[in-house]
Amino acid sequence: MQEYRMLIGGEWVNSTTTETFADINPATLETLALLQLAGYKDVDRAVEAAWKGFKVWSETPPPKRAEVLFKAARLLEERKEDLAVLMTKEMGKILPEARGDVQEAIDIAYYAAGEGRRMFGETSSSELRDKFCMTVLRPLGVVGLITPWNFPVAIPAWKVLPALMAGNAVVLKPASDTPLSAIKFVETLLEAGLPPGTINLVTGAGSTVGAALVKHPGVRAISFTGSLETGKWIMGECAKSMKRVSLELGGKNPVIVMDDADLELALEGVLWGAFGTTGQRCTATSRLILHEGVREEFSSRLLEKTEKLKVGDGLLPETEVGPVINRAQLEKIESYVRIGQEEGAKLLSGGKRANSELPGYFFEPTIFTDVKPEMRIAREEIFGPVLSIITVSGFEEALEVANNTAYGLSSAIYTKDISKAFRAVEKLECGITYINAPTIGAEVHLPFGGVKGTGNGFREAGPEAIREFTEVKAVYIDYSGKLQKAQIDTSAPAVQERGTEQ
Ligand code: NAP
Repeated sequence: MQEYRMLIGGEWVNSTTTETFADINPATLETLALLQLAGYKDVDRAVEAAWKGFKVWSETPPPKRAEVLFKAARLLEERKEDLAVLMTKEMGKILPEARGDVQEAIDIAYYAAGEGRRMFGETSSSELRDKFCMTVLRPLGVVGLITPWNFPVAIPAWKVLPALMAGNAVVLKPASDTPLSAIKFVETLLEAGLPPGTINLVTGAGSTVGAALVKHPGVRAISFTGSLETGKWIMGECAKSMKRVSLELGGKNPVIVMDDADLELALEGVLWGAFGTTGQRCTATSRLILHEGVREEFSSRLLEKTEKLKVGDGLLPETEVGPVINRAQLEKIESYVRIGQEEGAKLLSGGKRANSELPGYFFEPTIFTDVKPEMRIAREEIFGPVLSIITVSGFEEALEVANNTAYGLSSAIYTKDISKAFRAVEKLECGITYINAPTIGAEVHLPFGGVKGTGNGFREAGPEAIREFTEVKAVYIDYSGKLQKAQIDTSAPAVQERGTEQ
């Protein structure tokens, strides 16, 4: 069994605990590889190495940093198929989606590299004569990046590449379910010429290694993508040491289908949004808010299409829905199916483990109808192939139901009415709204993130990507050759003069 090491200071090293953990294929339950179980000391080593890397990298001109990223993008392109196959084995998503995951990493690599010649600040006039003002972007220092398993290459890439472009050094802690994809991604960066220490990778449990990174006094910022629960804990810890923290958390994403919608288009979108990536996307469609006028027709057509979906090993070309990530996730989905039934929702389709010749974690695409907005299945993130249908009698009610959630990541509306489409853009409380398209499908040049329980105001990708990993410094250049005092009114008589008058 191949054993992989961690990357610290440009060297692939064993952990100080000398322990390993297994990387399991969720379709076959085969062990793919053994990984280092890092301990606190390894996090110390990684942070120390990162500060050495930072010294070199932060002084490298951004266009030169960009050359490394451009090269990494080309290497990722060359390795796209190998990386995608590995990802399907490691995480379970079907091969075309795994290719899409790698493509997102390629896209952000080119996008971030392009920023190398665009690290713009701003200039401004001064309130004083012979004085010039500007802002410059400064890197943060060493940043800790903690990522989930559902986008094993794309999410590390969305964090690592803008952080590097901004001149930071990073310590990456990937999810324990998908460490191998992260290692292969990091290998391309090293081969592209990243100086030692600039990127470090530690593997192991979030509760120990991840937590150690969050608490480490040498880490200036944490960028975290994962569950709301973990995000809240991280935010609290970061507050104690005044670390910057950016959070990309869960979702309970609604799609509204109005009675004037193109139903066939909406059906395709709902099916893809709900069951693509086996429902394990932060932007997955988990609530279908259906106008009562099309309820019967839409539900029955959706049921027909859902029952035809092929569940199985993501490597097989006929598979449309792969396994879920692990046993705990499978059991969580089962428990929500029970909860939904106990709450009085009606199971329209699925609801149980899927038959398969393989021993992995397969679950049938599942649809509940007669769901009420207050039910737990309509409020809590299940993160699996489970769709809840909520019927509404009008557009304003649809908006109200859509917003009735603790989360606010993605949303969609299917309608031919331009007024309703624009009103939805205005009123839906979330970071992303799609019109006549599913809730999934973000592109890297647009900002990505959410409101309420989904995040804390940061956005990844797009023009915001660099901002997440930089500080803004204001610079004043006084070329008057004399002391000029801002805010001091020199036209008014001095205090002493007034004193003599009295
Ligand atoms: P998770 O359990 O919160 O884990 C995410 C990462 O945090 C993993 O690397 C995990 O390590 C680590 N971790 C766990 N406990 C930690 C702690 N106390 N301190 C520091 N790190 C810790 O989430 P997940 O189950 O992997 O991912 C699914 C969640 O991510 C869903 O809620 C989904 O909506 C969300 N997500 C959000 C976005 C977005 O952009 N908004 C994108 C994708 C996913 P281990 O793997 O070792 O436990």
